[in-house]
Amino acid sequence: MPLSVDTLIIGAGAAGLMCAARLRTRSDSTLLLDANDRIGAKISISGGGRCNVSNRVLDPSHYRGDPDFIDLVFRRYDNRWLTQWIESRGVALQCEKRHQYFCARGASSLIDLFARETGGMRVHLGETVQSVEGEGPFIVRTSKRNYRTKNLVVASGGLSFPRLGASDIGLRIAESYGHSIVLPLPALVGLTLQKEQFFMKELSGISLPVVIAVGGRRYEDQLLFAHKGISGPTVLNASLWWDRGEVTIDFLPDFDLSRLKGPKKVSTLLPMPRRASRAFLEHLGVEDKAAQRLNARDRQRLALLRSYRLAPAGTFGYSKAEVTRGGIATGEIDPETMMSRRVRGLYFLGEALDVTGELGGYNFQWAFSSAAVCADSLASDQ
Ligand SMILES: Cc1cc2nc3c(=O)[nH]c(=O)nc-3n(C[C@H](O)[C@H](O)[C@H](O)COP(=O)(O)OP(=O)(O)OC[C@H]3O[C@@H](n4cnc5c(N)ncnc54)[C@H](O)[C@@H]3O)c2cc1C
Repeated sequence: MPLSVDTLIIGAGAAGLMCAARLRTRSDSTLLLDANDRIGAKISISGGGRCNVSNRVLDPSHYRGDPDFIDLVFRRYDNRWLTQWIESRGVALQCEKRHQYFCARGASSLIDLFARETGGMRVHLGETVQSVEGEGPFIVRTSKRNYRTKNLVVASGGLSFPRLGASDIGLRIAESYGHSIVLPLPALVGLTLQKEQFFMKELSGISLPVVIAVGGRRYEDQLLFAHKGISGPTVLNASLWWDRGEVTIDFLPDFDLSRLKGPKKVSTLLPMPRRASRAFLEHLGVEDKAAQRLNARDRQRLALLRSYRLAPAGTFGYSKAEVTRGGIATGEIDPETMMSRRVRGLYFLGEALDVTGELGGYNFQWAFSSAAVCADSLASDQ
């Protein structure tokens, strides 16, 4: 006999936990289920162990996804709501790097909060959802047993970081009920290089301020050379918009090339570590000589560093990607409830949807806000 509940939430990550926490006092027949043997696995490793939960500057321009859909959700549950919700429950947040809210006492303080908020609820861990069928009620088959549920909340996240329980179950469920899927791809991830740029691998460990332009966006922050290619915050953000083809990198932001004059060697005058400037000079075919000896061709070649066109070979993949872009198309989801427009009682939240934020707390904000909207709808349905 399947176990019967009113609401079954797949995924005890950010979205599933917030949904469960907000339902706790309003429904006594909710079950939260996760393949992992602990709640909030990604929260625990996020933001360098301090979980960047939100950002002071919140609007849809920081997301890849339908801006109207995203806006409707944030109009109800925004960054002020989230930071107050967390802080009023005793978890201190700290605003750093100008705009980003981190857990002052580490990500574990947020996980403890959710453990308290979901205390007394049925939470089944170490149980993997394998398939779902039926409709009002749904029959959910897991690695351990079967459930019958009136409402099914899919908060199973994206495909990145499979070692933390990620799976394609959300996409499979959505597809089986006729939902469209926007091609999922690794995002907020490093980019690999073509042969022509392999010299950059030799610079592994060096970090530089750059500006990257891609897909009509412009990101200004650090680029980190890595063994596998290029990484760092600017590259991670750029990966959100990179659809094959080229990105343009300014390796000398704010540097006026006419300052290259006098007897000093060019490599010492370029505003980057010497190892990097020497490698770039060699790559451009410019001799490392006294700046006063640079000729017109040399200067033309050096100008390429201000708008260096690079066609990445690919990405570092799902094992390194912080998020998955693409996912369940939002056109078939009601942003007032997060319920499927196709199937009554079927809800989708968080990263499983085709909404992906930049670095800076945007993805947790989305997971928590979409979950709060869903919980309201479920509570009003009790
Ligand atoms: C290293 C890293 C650092 C990050 N840092 C930040 C940060 O600082 N700020 C930020 O905003 N975002 C950050 N992110 C992104 C953020 O973690 C995600 O966007 C967010 O967790 C998405 O929430 P979610 O609830 O939708 O999915 P998840 O948190 O991924 O939760 C989904 C849950 O569903 C479970 N699940 C999946 N399949 C099944 C199945 N078949 N059966 C049962 N359970 C299943 C998984 O085990 C998982 O626990 C980071 C991501 C990574 C990988």
